[in-house]
Amino acid sequence: MKEYNIVLLKGDGIGPEIVTQAVKVLRRASEKFGFGLSFEEALLGGAAIDATGVPLPQETVDRCRAADSTLLGAVGGPKWDSLPGKVRPEAGLLGIRSALGLFANLRPAVIFEQLRGASPLKAEIIGDDLDIMVVRELTGGIYFGERGRETVNGVESAHDTERYSVPEVERIARVGFEMAKKRRGRLCSVDKANVLESSRLWRATVARIGKEEYPEIELTNLYVDNCAMQLVRNPKQFDVIVTSNMFGDILSDEASMISGSIGMLASASLGAGKAGLYEPIHGSAPDIAGTGMANPLATILSAAMMLRYSLEEPQAAQAIEDAVAKVLKTARTADIWTEGTKRVTCEEMGDLVCSLL
Ligand code: NAD
Repeated sequence: MKEYNIVLLKGDGIGPEIVTQAVKVLRRASEKFGFGLSFEEALLGGAAIDATGVPLPQETVDRCRAADSTLLGAVGGPKWDSLPGKVRPEAGLLGIRSALGLFANLRPAVIFEQLRGASPLKAEIIGDDLDIMVVRELTGGIYFGERGRETVNGVESAHDTERYSVPEVERIARVGFEMAKKRRGRLCSVDKANVLESSRLWRATVARIGKEEYPEIELTNLYVDNCAMQLVRNPKQFDVIVTSNMFGDILSDEASMISGSIGMLASASLGAGKAGLYEPIHGSAPDIAGTGMANPLATILSAAMMLRYSLEEPQAAQAIEDAVAKVLKTARTADIWTEGTKRVTCEEMGDLVCSLL
């Protein structure tokens, strides 16, 4: 029997509540699909600051490196807001991503049929269902390029540099192609090749990887401005989108908003190996922590992504996603509750997903 070791970074606020529910669901899935799971907890964020004085203890990094994968709740809260930048909980988040070499960020934008009313898009634009995956390069480009400020002849100016090397583009392109292979076989690479030199290198490199290594995948290209428009005009045309750090930052937020509810959105960050970091896109929601009102579904769906992309248990992943879709027909947490459905707590939602697995 396969056995996987998962590190849990529960974090702060609602983090512990939502991760507990995801663990329950993972345990149920492992029984049903016949694989073993062991869990160990490590500290990150405010919880780590309180216990050790730093947001990312070395022990946490070591444990995550040794594990098959990591599941994260959320970090941060008013208690630590007045601390200086480097020792704030969020520094732990950036630190763990970089310590694990996570260069690819995966953000699915999925609309569950039952939540179609929550989307800001019209029903006829969404159609029956919507399922887009945005793959964003996470450790290069303009956010990490050379930058500066200078004053010449009394005029102040500032600059940031977008720089991508061929190997950086090759590795993120491969993540995009692999993702398309596991999904519907279509990849759209997004750039600004009509203006930017770095984008022309990006486009040529993605095209070469596609031709040489993934001839079966249908590759298209879009300029970022057109892509932003197409996402709200005709989002159904997309399967997987691969793009640079800054374009991905903007487009993944746009794509995820199409689904309408922050408590439902999962994400994954991947590096060179199989292990990854899986987390909901929302924060620690200190306003509802401890009230039982948190929606655990984004974390449960992040755990499903872990099963699919790090642990090679796609059937278990699919079963969890199906159970989530089913539960939404009858029960909802407060953030997505509507007339005609039962209003449930975080824990009850976890139990319901387990019972439908
Ligand atoms: P937030 O996402 O925590 O909350 C925004 C709003 O959405 C709140 O009203 C909250 O109650 C609600 N919400 C969020 N997740 C929910 C869920 N699962 N179920 C039900 N309602 C949910 O964003 P914020 O208020 O801007 O930030 C709060 C703290 O979280 C800050 O300290 C911030 O730095 C941190 N944060 C952490 C992460 C992370 O760990 N990845 C991401 C964003 C913000």
